[in-house]
Amino acid sequence: MLFGTAVTFYEKIESTTKRLEMTDLLTQLFKETPAAELDRLVYLTQGKVHPDYMGIELGLAEKLVTKVLAHATGLSESEVTAKWKASGDLGLVAEAAIGERRQRPLESEPLTLQRVYTNLDEIARASGGGSQERKITLLADLLGAATPKEAKYIVRAVVGKMRLGVADMTIVDALATTFATKGDRDTVERAYNVSSDLGEVARVLAADGLAGLSKIRLQLYRPIRSMLCERLETLEEILQRLGRCALEYKYDGLRVQAHVGPAQIRLFSRHLEDTTGQFPDLVDGLRRAFPGTGGIVEGEAVPVDPNTGEFLPFQEVSRRRGRKYDVEVMMKEYPVTLFLFDCLLDGDRDLTARPYRERREILHARVRPNDRVQLATFIETGDPREAEGFFDTALQVGGEGLVAKALDSTYDAGARGYQWIKFKRDYAAAMSDTVDLVVVGAFAGRGKRAGGYGALLMAAYDKGTDVFRTVCKLGSGFDDATLATLPGRLAPHRVDRRSARVDSKLQPDAWFEPAVVLEVLGAEITLSPVHTGGQDLVRKGAGFAIRFPRFTGKWREDKGPEDATTVEEIREMYEKQLKVAKAPPA
Ligand code: AMP
Repeated sequence: MLFGTAVTFYEKIESTTKRLEMTDLLTQLFKETPAAELDRLVYLTQGKVHPDYMGIELGLAEKLVTKVLAHATGLSESEVTAKWKASGDLGLVAEAAIGERRQRPLESEPLTLQRVYTNLDEIARASGGGSQERKITLLADLLGAATPKEAKYIVRAVVGKMRLGVADMTIVDALATTFATKGDRDTVERAYNVSSDLGEVARVLAADGLAGLSKIRLQLYRPIRSMLCERLETLEEILQRLGRCALEYKYDGLRVQAHVGPAQIRLFSRHLEDTTGQFPDLVDGLRRAFPGTGGIVEGEAVPVDPNTGEFLPFQEVSRRRGRKYDVEVMMKEYPVTLFLFDCLLDGDRDLTARPYRERREILHARVRPNDRVQLATFIETGDPREAEGFFDTALQVGGEGLVAKALDSTYDAGARGYQWIKFKRDYAAAMSDTVDLVVVGAFAGRGKRAGGYGALLMAAYDKGTDVFRTVCKLGSGFDDATLATLPGRLAPHRVDRRSARVDSKLQPDAWFEPAVVLEVLGAEITLSPVHTGGQDLVRKGAGFAIRFPRFTGKWREDKGPEDATTVEEIREMYEKQLKVAKAPPA
């Protein structure tokens, strides 16, 4: 097939804004494309040469393309760059420049789709020594034979910006109408959601028709499109909708789809990119977690503070660092833990059509949790009060909220529906004031902090009863020097057992007499079943807790423990926070 045929359609597709018209044009184009070339045409239409998960991507540096364009047209590099700056689209520059080409191309054969695809594929694959020159040659070869319009799309494809405005689902629609009927689009979409590869779907349809699609199955090392969540505003609404359901912590990290096979493990992101190289420790953890049968499992990777056991959501870490923090850099610096919440393939058994509860049970049976790989915390309930308590705990340990899941729900790849419903805190209430808290205990350090203290157990003062009640574990904000001197500074107050004036549900490794006061800044005050400060005041069984507490560096040596922030003050701060949250936006 001639590349020019596709280009004629691309021109028309680009100029329409109506989705139906676009689908019609695509359908006509697919009908004109020989079966053997259809997959390549589909990739090119998407501006790719392979499905994303293979990681073979176009995306030549625009500067490099500018060079080739200059060479192909006889313009100077600065002329090309000036035109590019003016229009913002190197494809248009190519079209115009080739149109008024100062050097006529040699007599050349018209470009075929095959030749364009082959060169682009080789450009995408070229790497290592001499690859730059090779890419230049391959692109120059195409541009030398291209008409102005062809050049436009070649250049756009090569820089990774096709700009046709064709959504994947429009291609799905067009494939259905080309090879079956509009009514069959769901079958086509399912094949796409399972394979994440529209080229493959097109290839199978062209060769075997609709019936062939049933051969497209979930497969190790080929990611499936992720199931997504809807959102509702209250837990009551969620429980009304789902009835008794599973509630899982909503971890605030990066989604990971892990393909665990006997020979290798590959990880994919929510956008189906191969992220294996970013998480060598997760790969190792998964290897240990699956001693037997592997398969495909899904979870969320979160950095965890090894000393407090609390998660470190990305925004929080970047806020503390005072600069935008690259997720990848952060993942390297902080050990991440993968919290698994689903199992899609068990050995070679496809579980996506099985109910959620069964998938979860299989997941739990297969995984041996370790330091890097854990199972997502969940409960099953239909009781709003229990749900609220669970939500509080999720926030307190650093989660973002909850994801509710229908017990009988299948894994609907690529779908966003009410089978999974997320519930997040709908405001960001910042704690404006610092609090002064009393050290009542310490936990042994881990990782880099091994041998010293990893985190301190902090309490507020309950004036009415003259008791110190816990409100957080404090592990952040200590520099290395402070950490080194902590045991020494706290030693004079160390006692063998919990002081009678301390109320705590947690059992630290060392207890202290209430004496030392530290200044602490937190993100907000939440309710927590773990802490005893203000227990039962707002909700039965829950006390106040400070979320993401950080030591400001100030030892309040001027304050005795009874001068510390009181539980009553924390309650006032909590109530103020609620008012701010409920106030209509200014
Ligand atoms: P959002 O990105 O706010 O739409 O929330 C959906 C995302 O939450 C998913 O794509 C996952 O990456 C993440 N997530 C965290 N914990 C869970 C969980 N237990 N179940 C499902 N998704 C989760």
